[in-house]
Amino acid sequence: MSDDVIVGLGLVRQLPLFSEEDIRNQLRVFYSLEGSLVLLNSERDLCYMLTTTDNNTFIFRVSNEKELEGVIDFQSGALAHIEVQAPLLPVPRIILSSNNKLYEKVTCDLGRKHFVRLFSYLDGEVAQRALTTSANPSKLRFSLGASTARIAKSLRNFFHPCAQENSHLWDLSRVTQLRGLTRYLGDAKLKRNCEAVLDAAEDYTYPALEKCRHQIVHQDAHMGNVLVSPVDDTVVTGVIDFGDMLYGSIVADVAAAADCYLEGDSDPLAVLGAVCAGYDSVFPLEEEEIDLLYDVALLRAVNTILIINARDFLSGDGKDNHIDNSGKHARMLAILLEKGRAVATAYLRRACGFPVSARGSSDLENLKSKRLENLGEIWHFYQEPLHITRGEGAWLISSCGSRYLDAYNNVPQLGHSHQYVVQAIARQASALNTNTRYLCDVVAEYADRLLSSLPSHFDSCIFVNSGSEANDVAANIAEVETGREGAIVMEDAYHGVTQRTMKLSPLTTGKTSAGVETIPAPDYYRDTVLIEQASLEPVGYSCRQAIARLNEQGYRPAFFMVDTALCSNGIPDVPEGYFDTLADAIKESGGMIIVDEVQTGLGRLGELWGSKARGMDLDKVDFITLGKPVANGHPLGVILTNSKIWNRFNSKNELFSTFGGNTVSCSAGLAVLDVIERDDLLVKSITLGEYFREELEKLAQRFPIIGEVRGQGLLIAVELVVCRRKKFPAVSEAKNLVEKMREKKVLVGSSGRYKNILKLRPSLAWGKDEVDFFIGQLSESLAEISGELSK
Ligand code: PMP
Repeated sequence: MSDDVIVGLGLVRQLPLFSEEDIRNQLRVFYSLEGSLVLLNSERDLCYMLTTTDNNTFIFRVSNEKELEGVIDFQSGALAHIEVQAPLLPVPRIILSSNNKLYEKVTCDLGRKHFVRLFSYLDGEVAQRALTTSANPSKLRFSLGASTARIAKSLRNFFHPCAQENSHLWDLSRVTQLRGLTRYLGDAKLKRNCEAVLDAAEDYTYPALEKCRHQIVHQDAHMGNVLVSPVDDTVVTGVIDFGDMLYGSIVADVAAAADCYLEGDSDPLAVLGAVCAGYDSVFPLEEEEIDLLYDVALLRAVNTILIINARDFLSGDGKDNHIDNSGKHARMLAILLEKGRAVATAYLRRACGFPVSARGSSDLENLKSKRLENLGEIWHFYQEPLHITRGEGAWLISSCGSRYLDAYNNVPQLGHSHQYVVQAIARQASALNTNTRYLCDVVAEYADRLLSSLPSHFDSCIFVNSGSEANDVAANIAEVETGREGAIVMEDAYHGVTQRTMKLSPLTTGKTSAGVETIPAPDYYRDTVLIEQASLEPVGYSCRQAIARLNEQGYRPAFFMVDTALCSNGIPDVPEGYFDTLADAIKESGGMIIVDEVQTGLGRLGELWGSKARGMDLDKVDFITLGKPVANGHPLGVILTNSKIWNRFNSKNELFSTFGGNTVSCSAGLAVLDVIERDDLLVKSITLGEYFREELEKLAQRFPIIGEVRGQGLLIAVELVVCRRKKFPAVSEAKNLVEKMREKKVLVGSSGRYKNILKLRPSLAWGKDEVDFFIGQLSESLAEISGELSK
């Protein structure tokens, strides 16, 4: 490297050549100030602390001759901008000269031009010193990150045409240009480490960084440039030195601030984590930025190592360095490299509350045993449990990056992590989350929107937190309203997990409870009568028989609760008028009707209301209960009913659910309704569902194991049978198929008494491409299973 290049890079510091007398003169001429001067440490400028005779303190800076006037103007403009945008931020203020200028020009004896500026003085102890004795260094570092972020936030709407002209050695977007300086590294291992980081920067870090947010940033708020209160070292009283400010990445701004390692530190990740969590708390970082922070922090360490070692070498005695070359950065670099990106990124993600992804197999084993220890033997969907860390629309993504098409999960009905809903949740949560004890706009608006498409007797909403709770409360109100305690549900029904709803769920308990009678689940696939010609007489009869059985037990029916899609019965088709016939029989006996739309509400069947889609007359319905998709995965349960019924109940038994109707859940619910309307999703559910069933029918022509394809909208059942004529349930084949589909990156579930019915509940984020992918994978899986069968 030639001398010219070294000088050009600014490695040789060449501070401005002015005597103290010159400085006094400049202060007199431009600012009419006199006093005592103390020379301060600065890399490029000549910098003095001035204490005037009347005891005011200022900072006087003479810029390096290399500094362009545009850059001086840029820095001065930025400080003026911060003063307007965030007047309370503790940054230096520029004192105007007697000529009313932000800066003045001076020339040294050698004819070199410089700019002089006077700044207000900020009180405080340098964070670097405070850290060495701090009782809570991690809180101090957190504050340091937060104050850096405050500056970045105030600068996000600042622009200056010279913002990209401030070229200096510490620009983290150009560290690779210093590669030649590795020649000054005597230690071979250190040299290797630095070269590895520079190589990675060229291949990975810089291309990735280009895609991240850029703006004007301080990019030098390390502990030497931050002042803290001597009384409480976690209170930042000043951020100084805007000389390295440039148009750069947010990540680099964090990495520079995080360069606050102490000599005795052994855990650079903890340092990085504290600073970036502080930064994130004020100016939220994006996921991609967090994921690059480790790499840019490595670059910052290499940057420092290259500069200080080169300066030591070039000056021979280390005297030309404004930073001690203690070997601290080399040590931090080695530890960070040893930890590696996966561990570091997981740590930083956790520090900022981002989900942790990409873990090794030993981590997975730990996770499995931790879950077993702490949650007990709860059910996994698959023999080998899936570790899912992310959802995107129709897809779920595992910790090792595999993408699975989700054909099972009916909760995030608009698709996983739907941005509109996510933002509604985040924005409402950051404004307010409270309960229905206060007047809140969002709750009232949401209730209004839900009720607006229902017949007028539905004029009240009750908010709870889950489907089970909604069913439980509806059942309770029906009992109080009728003064009865009996209930009728479908055979193998599922309605929830509370004590009461478990009794209404013979599917999970495997038996009927006292006061609960069931109606046999229809099976028109196996019935000898064609569905079109089916008589409803036996349907009404089976209901009256259930009522009679209840009476024999000494109960009368308070209500009939039904999921009209009959999901837990394998989604059988039913003849027109089926549910109305049941409802009429119940009503005749004085019972009420609760339709459980936890599965079918809000569009899956191509109608907002599932029971309407299943041909039911909503005038016969007293309660509609909603859960699962109502807030796209956010916990929310709703009961829709008539105000007279509700008021009668409420006057006797005050019902208040703390979280029910909280503002955040209601915002999520409102967002779901917005998306359904805006994206015309009811129509999509019908057309895509039809396409899906047509494609499945084509498969049925090739694979006799498919006995029947049925369903409505995007709720689809594929019944698997061993013999098409005898219609024996293909039990083990169905189980096998679910696992095979998982291997082929598609998630499906099974249902029905024998679990031989594929239950498909794709989200409304699916399109034709997803259906085609699904059909391709199902076709391959069926071919493999058929091959196995014929062996
Ligand atoms: N009813 C039906 C029809 C359901 O499918 C479910 C959940 N599978 C529930 C009620 C219970 O809802 P949650 O799990 O939200 O309590």
